[in-house]
Amino acid sequence: MHNFDVVIIGAGAAGLMCAATASQRGRKVLLLDHASSVGEKIRISGGGRCNFTNLDVSNKNFLSQNSHFCVSALKRFTSQDFINLVKKHQIAFHEKTLGQLFCDISSKQIIQMLLDECAQGATEIWLESKVEKISKSENSFEILTTKGQVTAQSLVIATGGLSIPKMGATGFGYDVARQFKIKVTQTYPALVPFTFDEELLSQTKNLSGISIPAIVSLGKISFREGILFTHRGISGPAILQISSYFKHGDKISINLTPEIDIYSRLIDEKKLKPKQEIQTFLTQFLPKNLADFFAQKINHGGNLADLSNQKIKEISDLINRFSFIPSGTEGYAKAEVTSGGISVDEISSKTFESKKVPNLFFIGEVLDVTGWLGGYNFQWAWASGKAAGEAV
Ligand SMILES: Cc1cc2nc3c(=O)[nH]c(=O)nc-3n(C[C@H](O)[C@H](O)[C@H](O)COP(=O)(O)OP(=O)(O)OC[C@H]3O[C@@H](n4cnc5c(N)ncnc54)[C@H](O)[C@@H]3O)c2cc1C
Repeated sequence: MHNFDVVIIGAGAAGLMCAATASQRGRKVLLLDHASSVGEKIRISGGGRCNFTNLDVSNKNFLSQNSHFCVSALKRFTSQDFINLVKKHQIAFHEKTLGQLFCDISSKQIIQMLLDECAQGATEIWLESKVEKISKSENSFEILTTKGQVTAQSLVIATGGLSIPKMGATGFGYDVARQFKIKVTQTYPALVPFTFDEELLSQTKNLSGISIPAIVSLGKISFREGILFTHRGISGPAILQISSYFKHGDKISINLTPEIDIYSRLIDEKKLKPKQEIQTFLTQFLPKNLADFFAQKINHGGNLADLSNQKIKEISDLINRFSFIPSGTEGYAKAEVTSGGISVDEISSKTFESKKVPNLFFIGEVLDVTGWLGGYNFQWAWASGKAAGEAV
C-alpha cells in the first residue's frame, strides 16, 4: 500500500500544474497517467510550438453553463503569471496573432518546465498506470491501480475530455463523477471542422486547400479569422471557433469578402465596366476556383450590363452571406477540445473541490468550461490546476 497526501489522475496540462503547486507546498503527490509520457497534448499543440496562453483572457473567451464560474481562478492565476513562469525557465516565445503566445522553439520546453517545477517538490510520477477502482472512506480515497493499491487524502481528476481518443483521451473523469453522483452535462466535439453534405461536397471539391480571411457567423456570434476548404467540408480558425457554439441543424453564414460590399461594388462596376464578365469581376476579390464556383452558382452567361439589381442582390448575398447547414462535424477524432463536462454547479470555483464529495477535485478540460482557440484552453488548465494545487 502506498500512501500519498494527493493523487492526481491525468498528467496533462492541468494535472502537471496541480502537481507542481501542491508538491511545492510540501504535499506528497502522486501524478498518475495511463499514457507512456506526460503532457502529450501539450507536445502536439500549436503545431509543435504550443500556444500556451493569450495576452487577453477573460470569461468572455469561454463557454460554460455558468459563464462566471471561471472568473475567480483566471483572476488568481493570470496569463501574465504563466508568462512569468515561462520567462523564469528562459523559454523564448513570441506573439503570433490576436495575443496568442507560442514557444519559439518547441512545446517540449513547456513540458520540461512543468516537470522541473514538479521536481522541486515531492511529486512521484507513475506512467502506464491504469486506475481500476476508486473507493472513499471517511478520511481518504483508496485507488486500485495496475501498479498497486494507493491511498490519498485528496483525489484530483485531471483526465481531460474526449478529444483525440487515439492519443489516450477517455471519459474516465465523467465516469468518476457519475460514480459519486456528480452531474455531467452533455458533451460535444468543439474547435472542430464542419462536414458538408454530399451535394455541397461535390460542388466544392475543387475548393479543397483554398484558405481566405472571412467573417463566420452563427446567430449573433461571429469570428473574423481564416477559413479553409477541405476535402470533407470546411475548417480554419474562424470555423473552429464557431463550431464550439454549433448544434446539429444550425445554419452557418460566411462573409467571404469582409472588406468588400459586393452589392455596392457591382452597382459601381456595372456603370464603369459594363462589358466585364462576372467571373473577371469576382477574381479581383476571390481565388480563381472560388470565383469559378460562384460564377457557376450565379449561372449568368452575360456581362455586368445585363445584371438586374435583383440579380446583383442575389450575387452579393451569396458572397457576403454564404450560408449552409453543416451535415455535422469531424467529431472527437479531430476536435481540439470537448465542450460540456462535469457540471460547474457541483464544483467550488475557488478550490475546484466537489461540493458533494469532500476532498474530490476536478480540473481542466474535464469540467464544463471550454475556451476559444488561441491559448485559452491551456490558460484554463494552468489556472484551475493552480487553484486546486493550493487547496489539496
Ligand atoms: C491537436 C490539439 C492542439 C491543441 N492546441 C492547443 C493550443 O495550442 N493552445 C491551447 O490552449 N489549447 C490547445 N489544445 C487544447 C488543450 O490541449 C487542452 O484543452 C488541454 O490539454 C487540457 O488539459 P487537461 O490537463 O485538462 O487535459 P489533457 O491535457 O488532455 O490531459 C489529460 C491526461 O489524462 C490522461 N488520461 C485520460 N484518461 C485517463 C485514464 N483513464 N487513466 C489515466 N490517465 C488518463 C491522458 O493520457 C492525459 O495525459 C489543443 C488540443 C489538441 C487536441
